[in-house]
Amino acid sequence: MGKRKWYFLTVLPICSLTASAYEIGVIDPDLKDPDRFDTEFGFERNHERMTALALECLYAANRDSKKIVHEPVRCENYSPDSSTYALFSASSSQLLEPARVDHAINNYLDLIKHVRFPDDPTRMLKYKGTIPKFVELVKVDCKIRKLSGPIDATTDGMLCASHYGSWQFMHAMANDDGIKASDTRKLINQWLSFTYKIASEDTEIDITEGYCDYWDKKEHTYPDLAAVMYNQGYRDKKWCESRCGSFLRCLNPFLDDLPPWTVGTTFNLYCKNPIDSGICNTYKHGPTTDSQIRKAALGSMLHLIQDSFSNAHTERIVNDRKPTVDCKPIVRYRSYTHQSSSNHGTTDKWPTFSPECENSDIYDPILASAKVIYHVHKKTKSDLFPFDLNKIFGKNPTPENKSEAGKAFE
Ligand SMILES: [Zn+2]
Repeated sequence: MGKRKWYFLTVLPICSLTASAYEIGVIDPDLKDPDRFDTEFGFERNHERMTALALECLYAANRDSKKIVHEPVRCENYSPDSSTYALFSASSSQLLEPARVDHAINNYLDLIKHVRFPDDPTRMLKYKGTIPKFVELVKVDCKIRKLSGPIDATTDGMLCASHYGSWQFMHAMANDDGIKASDTRKLINQWLSFTYKIASEDTEIDITEGYCDYWDKKEHTYPDLAAVMYNQGYRDKKWCESRCGSFLRCLNPFLDDLPPWTVGTTFNLYCKNPIDSGICNTYKHGPTTDSQIRKAALGSMLHLIQDSFSNAHTERIVNDRKPTVDCKPIVRYRSYTHQSSSNHGTTDKWPTFSPECENSDIYDPILASAKVIYHVHKKTKSDLFPFDLNKIFGKNPTPENKSEAGKAFE
């Protein structure tokens, strides 16, 4: 059976691939595939496209040298509605314009894959065999799990946590109704600072440090985030020590023990088993793996920033289902608990960019993404984040603004 037909059978029965995100394509985009930004069976590759536009913006500011030295201040040369991108139009270096050959921007093209991280943290959409498991989890199993209490990464897995539970801040959403906007914003700030330090190779965070040692500290730099990223379950499941793994694995004397989780493991999980996600593959720390971990951390930042402009995720004064990007401050985070998935999905389609973004104090998601990649590349040192996060999210909204579905999304 041909590749496309196979996707068709797997994917057609679901109405929306992910529960809470600007849409992503069905499977990891292949950098060599000329159709990598195409909509397939109704799924738009919107995070991939926003990231491609951010890279084009960064390249436009630095076209004259092989290096990335200028911070983009505006992204004026892009068409937000385009579906082809010059940076991705040539698959071999012979076809590139001379300025592109060996340009530093080429190191970041694979961000169109890594931006998918919060939607697919264990890379099930990387392998054909695990697509059905992904769909079943997101559309059925995670929802059933949520009926019996809050969803958590250790008990229910990272995929469920990201779509319906404690990790929903990675999509700029609250994980339930009634959560103070300031609490969601705290998690967002701490996550962006944590991932920025990983992405920019700040020595303050050692990605090879033990996961439990790092997150289970009394006085943590990121106290609210630590409460989400760690609980006793990590130790109870022995994820922080060497272990043989499952019953069957332990019987096999030829298999190596599974390594203890490190800080980087969050970004280094590849669940290839088509049925079970109990044991996922990780790659040993080293230059190649660590560079992928740092890229996934950066991808998660871009994803969060981009999602924060979806009206289904946040209320930026605007309160309807039209997919628009409005460069206004966030006044409230939305929650998926009482949202209709089809109403939510309408808004996660490709947005129209409001003209007022040109003169707003708030960066649009493409300029914000381009700036983040620039600072990561320059390794700009910062206590929290290399630029004022209010330029993305607006000033912290009043705490009384508690999360809810939003009238247009019930
Ligand atoms: Zn998302």
